[in-house]
Amino acid sequence: MAEREAVLVADIGGTKLAGGVTDLDGRLTTWAQVPTPRDGDAEFLWRTLESLLARVLEDAKIDDLGILSGIGCGCGGPMEWPAGLVSPLNIPAWRGFALRERLTERFGDKNQVRVHNDAICMAIGEHWRGAGKGCRNVLGVVVSTGVGGGLVLDDRLIQGSSGNAGHIGHVVVDPDGPRCQCGGVGCVEAIARGPALAAWAQSEGWRPGQPEVTAKDLADDAARGHAVALAALRRAGLAIGTAIASATCLCDLEVVAVGGGLSQAGALLFDPLHEALARHARLDFARQVRAVPAALGQTAGLVGAAALIIKGDRYWAGD
Ligand code: ADP
Ligand code: ZN
Repeated sequence: MAEREAVLVADIGGTKLAGGVTDLDGRLTTWAQVPTPRDGDAEFLWRTLESLLARVLEDAKIDDLGILSGIGCGCGGPMEWPAGLVSPLNIPAWRGFALRERLTERFGDKNQVRVHNDAICMAIGEHWRGAGKGCRNVLGVVVSTGVGGGLVLDDRLIQGSSGNAGHIGHVVVDPDGPRCQCGGVGCVEAIARGPALAAWAQSEGWRPGQPEVTAKDLADDAARGHAVALAALRRAGLAIGTAIASATCLCDLEVVAVGGGLSQAGALLFDPLHEALARHARLDFARQVRAVPAALGQTAGLVGAAALIIKGDRYWAGD
């Protein structure tokens, strides 16, 4: 590989860590993922990430970091941005962890290292190369261990005053709903995040007493027709669709790309999502919106992390 022809990328979530290498068109030449360690301290988690990234570099046959044009990384929020001090709500081991600095020390060489919210990376990945390609106004929504989002308006990523614009996860969809990890009540994340979904279903009698059940198990049971599992996915889909309707009216969106682990439940999630969207987005301009599965699937966040480097003029305003 010639000089400056690749980007090292990472996507750090509460359930999985993903790493990869892309070319300068954002095409992944290799990628891999491992579960996010549940136990262990900040350094153990860092070492897990470090060895994953070392492995993808090896797979891509890159032994000289000098050929990278940069390192792009998405990580669960919140974070101090653009400093890249991360405190992901769903990764308790990292509180004020200096991720950008550590990536720079280990892989930076003289390269750019840029860290942004994982959902923002997903959104820009979809805008650049996925379901929102060619559209100027796109919201990306990630439904995974948490619920997040990123907003592209008039072809540019909207950062907001602290880099958190587009964070749809804490849009309120039920003022009398469950408590949220953020301290609020009735946020879409409190209802639709994978672990909340599984917990709600258990409280309604699904697989009672089993400690390790996940939203994936729930989706599998829903696909088999289990009534409570179906109701749980419906509840999540309605909540997400309601939040998307509000965001559509606020931002005059063309496309909403929905990704993250839970989006793999397919129609079980998207049918109620579309139902709520059609019910609540009534004005003519809002009816035009298309809410679709992320075209890049589970790799959208990695592609977006590459966009932080390759298309920094559009997607990076940090420094
Ligand atoms: P992260 O939060 O680390 O970014 P993911 O995007 O993979 O990770 O999301 C993890 C969540 O998605 C978990 O709650 C998991 O149970 C759920 N999940 C994973 N696969 C599926 C699937 N096929 N159907 C429904 N939910 C899934
Ligand atoms: Zn909240």
